[in-house]
Amino acid sequence: MTKKLMLSENVRAQASLRARLGMPVCLGMLCSLWYWGPVSPQIRPWHIALAFGFHVAYNAAVLLAVRPASRVKPALVARTTAVMDPLLLSLGLGLLGESGQLFTCFYLFTILGFGFRIGARTMALCQAAAIAGFIAVALVSPAWRPHPIAALSVLLFLAVVPLYAKPLIIGLQQACAHAESESRAKTQLLANVSHELRTPLTGIVSCAQLIGEENADPHVRRRSDTILTLSRELMGQINHLLDSAKYGAGALQLDRAPFRIADLAEQLRRTLAATALTKGVVLHVSTDERIAASLLGDAFHLARVLLNLGGNALKFTEHGEVLIRFSLLEQTPAACRVRFSCRDTGIGIAPELHQKIFEPFYQASAGTTRKYGGTGLGLGIVRGILGAMGSRLAVHSACGQGSLFEFDLWLDRAPPPAAFAMPETARNKRILVADDNATNLVLTRELLERDGHQVVTAAGGREAIRLLGTMQFDLAILDYNLGDMDGASVLQIYRFGTLDPAPTYLLTADSAAATARRLMDAGAAGVLHKPIDLSTLRQAINHVFSAGQAPCQDGAPVLYIDPDAMAELRELGGDSLFFEQLLATAATDIKALCDILCSAVRRQDLDATHEKAHALKGITVSVGAVRLSVVATRLMHIAQADLQREGAALADEIGATAAHSIHSLRSLMLSADG
Ligand code: ADP
Repeated sequence: MTKKLMLSENVRAQASLRARLGMPVCLGMLCSLWYWGPVSPQIRPWHIALAFGFHVAYNAAVLLAVRPASRVKPALVARTTAVMDPLLLSLGLGLLGESGQLFTCFYLFTILGFGFRIGARTMALCQAAAIAGFIAVALVSPAWRPHPIAALSVLLFLAVVPLYAKPLIIGLQQACAHAESESRAKTQLLANVSHELRTPLTGIVSCAQLIGEENADPHVRRRSDTILTLSRELMGQINHLLDSAKYGAGALQLDRAPFRIADLAEQLRRTLAATALTKGVVLHVSTDERIAASLLGDAFHLARVLLNLGGNALKFTEHGEVLIRFSLLEQTPAACRVRFSCRDTGIGIAPELHQKIFEPFYQASAGTTRKYGGTGLGLGIVRGILGAMGSRLAVHSACGQGSLFEFDLWLDRAPPPAAFAMPETARNKRILVADDNATNLVLTRELLERDGHQVVTAAGGREAIRLLGTMQFDLAILDYNLGDMDGASVLQIYRFGTLDPAPTYLLTADSAAATARRLMDAGAAGVLHKPIDLSTLRQAINHVFSAGQAPCQDGAPVLYIDPDAMAELRELGGDSLFFEQLLATAATDIKALCDILCSAVRRQDLDATHEKAHALKGITVSVGAVRLSVVATRLMHIAQADLQREGAALADEIGATAAHSIHSLRSLMLSADG
């Protein structure tokens, strides 16, 4: 997170705390005034009412100034409130008599609050305002004038405590900044390493597949299968490392899409069956019939959790059985609570290690790595994923008595699926493949030609543009790294210069969801993750020629407004008036923010772009404006060079997407009305 983003979040948090705590303090002062009376009879009730009214107005103004759509700079809000907060407290003390002493501690509360949240310089400003305000009270108020020693002791506190806190705060902030930059560097390193490893792996997997398909000799096939199995294992380890860094940083973004529980069970059965068979362990995967057939959730990450648990169960079991069970705990018309459990009859885990096994790289016994392999990262990842899903993994196990891992999840029922068009055979298509890696280029071409397609290859971005401009294609597959240009830019240029561009897949080695969204944003029909194999290519080609639909992300259409999020909001609100008001406020905020964001993008003001995109993301996520949220996410992390290059196009895109999203929101409002 950038410094500016942190500042605006801190200022917002402080404004909300001021409203929640400042108002009770103010009410406390009013009670003291009512009980003990004001410091002098010359103070009339309307003086007090005026001071109270001013305080309420001040709070409201600050809350308005920190709204995401506000144009007021967070730094200005921070500086103004650093002066106003202690001065308002001094005003209260000036009105109160001796009972004002009860409230002097709030000076320190305010000063230190600014120090920890905003920084040492704003703390010094607040401290100066507090000292000035209190000196005025001590000199003017009849309640303090006769007690100079008491006043001096308060002043001493105000002078000394923040001075003592200052180096501690600076140290703390430096340590935080250091830790954050280290964590960013670690994640970046892991992402780079994984990228470098995935690219050659694509070549290895494709080669092994071709050798297997071209040779009838069972020995050769067995060897090519071994290469494929080992490559996938290696890929799994690379993904583990990457995920461990990602989930450790709390960066997991969950998807919510319909999935069939029977498909999940089948996937587990198919993936784990070979290992079970080789080890002679009986594998059961059973599903409670009463669970709704189709549910909403992140099936990919759920499968990862269960495959991890099932894989461990098989790994640590030599004899007996592994039983994976999905049982129904309770259900409502809208959702089911499902218990997922994995029981084995393996070596078990000593009770004192039940917590430790979740730590990264921890394995229960020193000989585990040698005997069973593994990295000790799996359970940490499982815990991270389940935490993001709002669940917790329970372990029941003892040495030599097998293990039981289980967790519960509430999963919404999926709405009935829309009619599905049967795919036509996608054969004999003219396909352009662009990749700067010669081996991968040849291999992808061979894989596609085996299926009867006519393939033209390009070894770089410019060549791809030339071919796309001079020849007619049914499909293009562009690697993201094309040496001279990136695939997304090639696609954008192609789409810009052609009336009817062919659907295009972008290939990437980066598994981050944000990257996929960014590429979809460039207008791709889909994103394929390396290493790709024959079946992925076939699925992708079938998908594009059978579905014939608008841009989609890994298969799912990107809508302006997510109907599920809308349904949730409607349910949450209860009455349609609330829903309508919510949508109306969101539409106004989105419009205002997009205008500011557009002008920041056009001015190429990087900080303002990041900050406003962050605020826009918050609003769009809460009303399910998914397409605009994708644009906002991209802008939240855009680099200065990209902003300079694509600024004008991006501003147009924000404007167009915002207009469509607002139009959709307004249509929904009308339908809520009706
Ligand atoms: P890995 O399996 O790669 O070593 P995990 O994080 O998945 O890493 O597991 C950590 C440790 O927990 C394992 O090394 C093993 O000692 C213990 N463990 C996990 N599952 C089981 C199980 N089903 N039976 C026995 N021990 C297990």
